[in-house]
Amino acid sequence: MKLEYFDIHSHLYFPDFDKDRDEQIKKMRKAKIGAIVIGTDIKSSKECVKLAHENDNIFACVGQHPDELKEDSVFDEHLRKLASDKKVVAIGECGLDYFRLPKDQTSALELKMIQKTVFEYHVDLALDLDKPLMLHIRSSSGTQDAYYDALSILEHHHKTSGGKLRGNAHFFAGDVEILKRFLEIGFTVSFTGVITFTRDYDELIKYTPLDSILVETDAPFVAPVPHRGKRNSPLYIPLIVDRIAEVKCEEREVVRKALFNNTLKHFPEVSKSLSTSLASFDLL
Ligand SMILES: [Zn+2]
Repeated sequence: MKLEYFDIHSHLYFPDFDKDRDEQIKKMRKAKIGAIVIGTDIKSSKECVKLAHENDNIFACVGQHPDELKEDSVFDEHLRKLASDKKVVAIGECGLDYFRLPKDQTSALELKMIQKTVFEYHVDLALDLDKPLMLHIRSSSGTQDAYYDALSILEHHHKTSGGKLRGNAHFFAGDVEILKRFLEIGFTVSFTGVITFTRDYDELIKYTPLDSILVETDAPFVAPVPHRGKRNSPLYIPLIVDRIAEVKCEEREVVRKALFNNTLKHFPEVSKSLSTSLASFDLL
């Protein structure tokens, strides 16, 4: 198997793919596309690990999404056991989501506290297992509040761990100041198909060094042009690579290689798994 692209954040286990999941993964292999499939709770995390074990171009990320916390959400030993699997390449998606907090101040504060506790659990787990975090951070409308709170947690642990903490801010939508703080602690940021239909991210893409950018589809959501409004798929990742090259005014092949190598570098478990299980894998 030879891979040329990596979609670092997708949800291939969603019911949207129930009819043709295997076919999609087969087509991805043919198009030399690998993908990291992201869990949002224990159930979906288990499905990610299963998919990763069944397919050599699929890798898993396990965790509890902050927007899907329920009274009985499990983020204890079950998650730790799952996260130790060798095809689990990152921990998440985890983080803070203040976009849909309850209107009532007390309940909103309470939920924020719970989100922070669960997030800290993931940070500790990532450090224990030496795997990167896959961050989901969404601020309340018109603010950067969740980014500020998440960064103060991450910067603290970055310091106390001696720089060991690593991770990627998925679907990055902060401003340049926030971006600088992520880069300072060695984190990467990833962009979705949204960049193919708005120029809102151009400044961020230009500012981010090519070796700190990753690309993702977040499939089945936010399909890039010309598939906008339809089901998204990791098969469309080359369109997002094209757009990064365009914004950066760099040669497409240079950008493709850089983005692919970034995945191997920032998710070391991916390259470990590829080099041990696939003797014929051609590293770039
Ligand atoms: Zn996601």
